Amino acid sequence: MKKKYLLIFVCVGLLTVFNACQKSTEYKALIVTGQNNHYWKSSFPILEQLLEQTGLFTVDIAKSPDKGGDMTIFTPDFSKYNVIVIDYNGDSWSDKTKAAFVNYVNNGGGVVVYHAGDNSFPEWKEYNQMIGLGGWGNRSEKDGPYVYFKHDSLIIDSSAGRGGSHAKRHEFEVRARNTEHPITKGLPQRWIHGKDELYAQLRGPGKNMEILATAYSDTTGGGTGRDEPMLMAITYGKGRIFHTTLGHPDEDGGPSMECVGFITTFQRGAEWAASGKVTQKIPYDFPTSAGSSLRPDFKELTLEDDLSKIAQYDITKSTRYFSDLQSRIRHEAKTPADYQGFEKEMIRVLESKEATDDGKKLLLRELSWMGSELSIPVTKELVKNENIKDVAEYTLARLQLAK
Ligand code: ZN
Repeated sequence: MKKKYLLIFVCVGLLTVFNACQKSTEYKALIVTGQNNHYWKSSFPILEQLLEQTGLFTVDIAKSPDKGGDMTIFTPDFSKYNVIVIDYNGDSWSDKTKAAFVNYVNNGGGVVVYHAGDNSFPEWKEYNQMIGLGGWGNRSEKDGPYVYFKHDSLIIDSSAGRGGSHAKRHEFEVRARNTEHPITKGLPQRWIHGKDELYAQLRGPGKNMEILATAYSDTTGGGTGRDEPMLMAITYGKGRIFHTTLGHPDEDGGPSMECVGFITTFQRGAEWAASGKVTQKIPYDFPTSAGSSLRPDFKELTLEDDLSKIAQYDITKSTRYFSDLQSRIRHEAKTPADYQGFEKEMIRVLESKEATDDGKKLLLRELSWMGSELSIPVTKELVKNENIKDVAEYTLARLQLAK
């Protein structure tokens, strides 16, 4: 009897290990690129990095022939993947490749349409149904209505006119229209997006489409005066499509792609398209209506990054790492033990001989409200340092009060 139970335990144990090993390769993603009126050579490696960062995807790249090349040789095997990311705006695919793509989505394949991906294939009916709305490529009333919000009502507008426009690039507020959808659940109602093109006047069939977020296209900046769709979820056959108009790439990516709002919604949208669910947490540095939040290297900073940069801090340089530490503490610390975890790491920097006085000042300021008696000995030591005496005295007084 005992042996039988032991065997069950071993089997369950092995299964758990097996599942844990499987996690990193849960979904297979294919980024389709190779032609675009944008810097696709910059954007696709960033999109690849963002997908891999989630720990959910392994990523392949399908690069088309150059513009004007022989498109009949471009035949990716879509059926091997859970999600296809369209970072492509170029020559038409062959009928065979189009049919394979339609078949893939019909059978439940996921798609992410990224920025100028919605400029593609104006003549391809099924593709336009998948993306819901598109722009440019001579799109007009023949392709479907404009779809937008006005005074909080959804408007389907069949009036004549061009499809697709954008005002000069600027930071703008994105507003969630449905915070119950898996992609947007838990996000703030409004957040400021990094400088980007605000796509407007998109038009298309707009069927089986839910607008998850909009942005107001301001007439003072040459916009439409409408709340234009930014993020959309569409179903086609058994497939799911996430459409993000955001993320116009500069040669080095730039603020639209560095924006944590873009990054997070892209990552969540890809998971939803692949699986119908979203398991990723909302990151602590997600922007709010108070301001945008950028990740210059597209990576979420770690506590170690923050502390090592603060240790080298020079008052004339950016306070990015300190701001990051501040929002990390405010979002991640829930219990006194959490605060003390941060506090111990900060004390380590305060005690270090290599850390700059400017860096120590920033940490003392933060400890003045969140520190405990653990910080008192090192703060007393720092009172002896003429450069930081005043800050140390202030922090010490507050720490002793809180005791
Ligand atoms: Zn663009």
